[in-house]
Amino acid sequence: MVVGDVATGTELAIVGAGSGGYVAAIRAGQLGLDVTLIEEDAIGGVCLNYGCIPSKALISATDVAHEAGDAEEMGVYADPEVQMDEMKTWKDGVVDQLTGGVENLCEANGVNVVEGRAEFVDENTLRVAHGGEGQGSESYEFEHAIVATGSRPIEVPGFEFDGETVLSSRDVLDLETIPDSVVVVGAGYIGMELSTVLAKLGTDVQVVEMLDDVLPGYESDLVRPVKRRAADLGIEFSFGEAAAGWAETDDGIVVTTETEEGEESTYEAEKAIVAVGRTPVTDTLNLEAIGLEPNDDGFLETDHEARTDVDHVFAIGDVAGEPMLAHKASAEGAVAAEVIAGEPSALDHQAIPAAVFTDPEIGTVGMTEAEAEDAGFEPAVGKFRFGANGRALTTGHPDGFVRIVADEDSGFVLGAQVVGPDASELIAELGLAVEMGATLEDVARTIHTHPTLSESVMEAAEHALGHAIHTLNR
Ligand SMILES: Cc1cc2nc3c(=O)[nH]c(=O)nc-3n(C[C@H](O)[C@H](O)[C@H](O)COP(=O)(O)OP(=O)(O)OC[C@H]3O[C@@H](n4cnc5c(N)ncnc54)[C@H](O)[C@@H]3O)c2cc1C
Repeated sequence: MVVGDVATGTELAIVGAGSGGYVAAIRAGQLGLDVTLIEEDAIGGVCLNYGCIPSKALISATDVAHEAGDAEEMGVYADPEVQMDEMKTWKDGVVDQLTGGVENLCEANGVNVVEGRAEFVDENTLRVAHGGEGQGSESYEFEHAIVATGSRPIEVPGFEFDGETVLSSRDVLDLETIPDSVVVVGAGYIGMELSTVLAKLGTDVQVVEMLDDVLPGYESDLVRPVKRRAADLGIEFSFGEAAAGWAETDDGIVVTTETEEGEESTYEAEKAIVAVGRTPVTDTLNLEAIGLEPNDDGFLETDHEARTDVDHVFAIGDVAGEPMLAHKASAEGAVAAEVIAGEPSALDHQAIPAAVFTDPEIGTVGMTEAEAEDAGFEPAVGKFRFGANGRALTTGHPDGFVRIVADEDSGFVLGAQVVGPDASELIAELGLAVEMGATLEDVARTIHTHPTLSESVMEAAEHALGHAIHTLNR
């Protein structure tokens, strides 16, 4: 503490108001705790301001435009025009509506929101610095603290983001004009989602990936329809090449890549987008003051209650480890708040779902067939293609499938993978099945509305049981 500084007392101080921090704050407020939520940038964190929400807004808007211009088979002829600045205004409006909602909820639940950068001074004190020079600071004496500082994009050496030529995902989501061409470095989910948006807007997209496929970590049959569609949209891929350097040209940028064997290639475009992953933010907090050290991967390690090695300090969300997803951050936030309030609560999830909002979408939860085998199960696997689903055909999106993985002996659903229309929504039912310990019979005997995509979930379960109606059984 600065000499003469009088610290404000608070039962719970939360650093970072992203999907983890604000949910923890609201839940703690509901449970009657006196909460101080400290944020240096924007309420809602990355997800609401620079990640999930703006990216999905742009994906939906470009889908509307693209589908309208791509529906001649249905007898629809249209020639949509995209006004990028208006699309951006609409997207910003969605973000404002959500962040405004979170602010109101914080207020309604008695959360004290403080603007500024927080750092630990000692085991029970945080100092909050308010922005620029001469803006001052104040201190908070807390009983418990939650670190929810999230993550930031990894920069490739030599490719520092300048917001003009070398762009981060955040810069792309704020574009006011559509670039003619881009080189995208990284074919993970953020790189692929942004590439799809831009290709649908008419940008020439060249993706450069160090590994040998897109969406590392996802099974190849899930990725195949995404790659096929990307190729239809004109997206080009170069695998096994790492971004090595760039130079400015009259028209933009030339990116040089290098293979492991040292072979060089060059790609010219108006702009480069670097999306090679994200790294946890632990360097803004002066963690040394409380004797807390990140692990070798940079994350803060926590137990089943989201507690760090320092007993009264918790960590949630991206800063606390993979998967770096908003819904995982929120779930951890709720648990941390409940534990601090003395409620019986724990991170006892059977599976965390994941979705990739490419075209088509991918949704996964729990174990793959290979993971089930590795874990010692004898898996029963059922699969149903959207090509045999009435609703998928009526929407013009028959690509992809639902796969369900269960334990042959007990019938318990262990996991599922979906690629196709609304996979991000369909995976929720399968997540519930895993979490509730549902069996294949439970899923197959649940009456699903007709005609819907979700009937494919039921049919995949029936297929695993050997009696699917609308596909041949093994
Ligand atoms: C382009 C993009 C798309 C994404 N799409 C999805 C998606 O579709 N689905 C999904 O689940 N996830 C998605 N994510 C990931 C998701 O955004 C993160 O997992 C989520 O935001 C993590 O929440 P968090 O609360 O841990 O951290 P963050 O949202 O990163 O929030 C941390 C907050 O802490 C603040 N902070 C940091 N240090 C300090 C300090 N010392 N003092 C005060 N404040 C501080 C930061 O300003 C920030 O606001 C996406 C990410 C990106 C970049």
